[in-house]
Amino acid sequence: MIRAGVLLRWRDRLPVTPRTPALTLGEGDTPLVAAPTLARDIGCAELWLKVEGQNPTGSFKDRGMVVAVAKASEAGAKLAVCASTGNTSASAAAYCAAAGITCRVVVPEGKVALGKLAQALAHGARIVVLRGNFDTALSAVRALTARGGIALLNSVNPYRLEGQKTAAFEIVESLGGPPSGLALPVGNAGNISAYWRGFVELGMQLPIYGIQAAGAAPLVSGAPVEHPETLATAIRIGNPASWTLAVQAQRESGGQFAAVPDEEIVAAYKRLAAEAGVFCEPASAAPVAGLLRLARERPGRFAGQRLVAVLTGHGLKDPQAAIAQAPPLPEPVPAGSIEEALR
Ligand SMILES: *Cc1c(COP(=O)(O)O)cnc(C)c1O
Repeated sequence: MIRAGVLLRWRDRLPVTPRTPALTLGEGDTPLVAAPTLARDIGCAELWLKVEGQNPTGSFKDRGMVVAVAKASEAGAKLAVCASTGNTSASAAAYCAAAGITCRVVVPEGKVALGKLAQALAHGARIVVLRGNFDTALSAVRALTARGGIALLNSVNPYRLEGQKTAAFEIVESLGGPPSGLALPVGNAGNISAYWRGFVELGMQLPIYGIQAAGAAPLVSGAPVEHPETLATAIRIGNPASWTLAVQAQRESGGQFAAVPDEEIVAAYKRLAAEAGVFCEPASAAPVAGLLRLARERPGRFAGQRLVAVLTGHGLKDPQAAIAQAPPLPEPVPAGSIEEALR
C-alpha cells in the first residue's frame, strides 16, 4: 500500500492549492493501541494510545511539518530555520531534505535527546547551539525570520497546527466517533491547540487534558517559568508560544491543565513499555501519568469513559533516558552457564 500522507488524505480540510507540492514521507495514519491495565488503574472503560511515534521521523511533528514545508516550497523558500528541543529539528531536517530546501536548526545548549540530534545531522541540517534555553532560541529565530526571506518552521507557523489537527480527524474516524476525553503532553502548546481545532471543525466537543511536567508547568501555575526543568525534554518549556490558544482550548473543551512530577512520568513511561508494548519518549508518558493522577485525586471521575492518550514521540528518540531508567547490564556468563542464567 502506498501511504497517502497528510496532504493528500486531508486535502479538503487543509490549505492545499493546485500549486502545493505533493510532499510526503508517509506521515499520519498512526495506530490506536489498547492499554487495558492502565485503563483499569485510571478507572475508565477503555484507554487508547495514539502512537504518534510511528510517524516517519518518530514524532507527531511530521503532521504539521509536511504542510509547513510544502507551503514554504510553494512560496519559493530556499532556506528554512527552526528553534527546537529536538523533534521539530528532526522533522524539519527530514522534510526540508525531501523538498530540496536548506535547513538550519537552533537548539538550546545541553538537554537535547541524542536520537533527535542524530536525525537532524543525518538529514543534513546545520545545527547552531545557542547559549540559553528553548525560549531564548525561539525569540532569536522569530526575530531573524521576521525580516523575510527565510521560512520559520516552528509551531507559530500556522501551517504546523493545520497539519497537526489531522490527528483528531483520525481518532474520530478510527473510533467511529469522538472519545470521552483526550490527554496529551503540553510544551509550547501547539498540539493541544491543533487537536482542539480539529474537534471543533468536526463539530465535536470533548474535554482535553493538557499535561505538563511539574518543573515546567506555566499553564498550571498561570505564569511563565524562568528555568524550566524536567527529564521530559520535549516539554521543557517555560513560556509556551501558543499560550492563548491553549487556554482557549482548555476552557472551551471543558478540559483541564495538570502537572505531574518527573517520578510519575518515569513510572508511566516504564508501564507503557512493559504493559502495553509501546515504547515512547518520556514527555509522551506525561498524559498517562496525568490521567492516573487525576483519577487518584477524584476516584471514579473517568468511570465508563473511552479515553485517548496521545503518545507524541518514539522511545528511541531518547536512548539515554531509557538506559538511565533500566537496571545495569549483568556480568557476562560463560556459555556453559546459559541455562542457569536464563532461568
Ligand atoms: C513537541 C513535543 C511535545 C509538545 O508539543 P507542543 O505542541 O509543543 O505542546 C510533546 N511531546 C513530544 C514528543 C514533542 O516532540
